[in-house]
Amino acid sequence: MHVLSAASSGSSQIMTITLQEFSGSSVPAAGIRRLAVPLSQLQSTYARLLRSGVRILGVSNGLSSTAAVKPEPSPAARPARKAPAKPAHGDVPVNLYKPKAPFVGKVISNGSLLKEGAIGRVNHVTMDLSGGDLRYVEGQSIGIIPDGLADNGKPHKIRLYSIASTRHGDNLAGHTVSLCVRQLQYEKDGELVNGVCSTFLCDVPPGAPVRITGPVGKEMLLPDDEDANVIMLATGTGIAPMRAYLRRMFDPGERAKNPHYAFRGKAWLFMGVPTTPNLLYEEEFQSYLSAYPDNFRYTKAISREQKNGEGGRMYIQHRVAEHADEIFDLIKLDATHLYMCGLRGMEPGIDEAMATAAADRGLEWKTLRPQLKKAGRWHVETY
Ligand SMILES: Cc1cc2nc3c(=O)[nH]c(=O)nc-3n(C[C@H](O)[C@H](O)[C@H](O)COP(=O)(O)OP(=O)(O)OC[C@H]3O[C@@H](n4cnc5c(N)ncnc54)[C@H](O)[C@@H]3O)c2cc1C
Repeated sequence: MHVLSAASSGSSQIMTITLQEFSGSSVPAAGIRRLAVPLSQLQSTYARLLRSGVRILGVSNGLSSTAAVKPEPSPAARPARKAPAKPAHGDVPVNLYKPKAPFVGKVISNGSLLKEGAIGRVNHVTMDLSGGDLRYVEGQSIGIIPDGLADNGKPHKIRLYSIASTRHGDNLAGHTVSLCVRQLQYEKDGELVNGVCSTFLCDVPPGAPVRITGPVGKEMLLPDDEDANVIMLATGTGIAPMRAYLRRMFDPGERAKNPHYAFRGKAWLFMGVPTTPNLLYEEEFQSYLSAYPDNFRYTKAISREQKNGEGGRMYIQHRVAEHADEIFDLIKLDATHLYMCGLRGMEPGIDEAMATAAADRGLEWKTLRPQLKKAGRWHVETY
């Protein structure tokens, strides 16, 4: 049992609050704590604990036999509680197919994810993996070797893509993988240049072979804990791994396939896109909202349509700042994981929003972030 000490003020009477925090399923009883509080601070401490989402098991008069009263350090100076060990994920498949001997899959379907009026081109591409041993879990990526040769006459290098399907595939029958691909287009010397692999993937027709490597990546894996809280920050195709997590959590067919993973925690998706027609997998997310209103929350930042508090474009970091209280209340819980995925450019904005929100609470984001990372609770994949 872990004992957290509270401030000793001038008040002579000490009360003990016994509470339970959320904890990983691997450590069932680790969340019970006793908090010794001067009577004068009982009411405010009780209210603060309730807001933070812990379960209060009881309040008793006097000092618990194991509790000792010491002055409470400031939140910034308070030593971090020992984080639970980061899972090793030794059983997660990696590099089953390497660039020299890729698996050759076959395209099953390839279609736009965008609605009329959207900016750019984003496709959902599903490939058949049957006949091989390419297995993966949610949060991993695969490599694609586009057809053709590079300017140097050699085969193209692989490009990585986050997997947008669950391990059971979109058809729930296994042996397929889906990607969410944005065609890269940019101007160079006054000419429009199409990205090699993203254009290959957006154009590749059903029936065509595709060379695939991997899977790779253990950074973005979902915790096994069915009671975890999962905060997801996605921009554009960064939704790919989140789409897989949310299917695993809420899709009825997926839930039937996963008797040992009946998600009961809170999943909160922050999604950034430029316009409403650019929202990806919207129908799926709306169906989860209807079926699981207590478990799924969905907050959108639509930069060219919505305004932030200062009248500028609404980006995902503005939504994070708006909800900083709730986000930080969740972060306090060991069962909370944060995932960020999308273009690299999203990182500074999110970092700034988190740093400001942390500072408002007497915390230092530059200290907290590595602690969360070390505990395996801060997951980032940007490109
Ligand atoms: C882990 C990981 C996961 C990823 N997941 C996804 C995903 O789910 N979906 C997705 O669509 N992409 C994803 N990507 C990005 C993907 O790997 C490719 O980088 C992307 O599709 C572009 O590849 P390409 O072959 O089309 O472009 P390329 O032909 O390789 O062109 C890219 C190059 O073009 C140049 N370039 C790009 N923009 C400009 C510009 N504005 N001006 C001048 N030069 C420029 C740069 O030199 C750049 O290196 C992921 C990347 C990583 C690392």
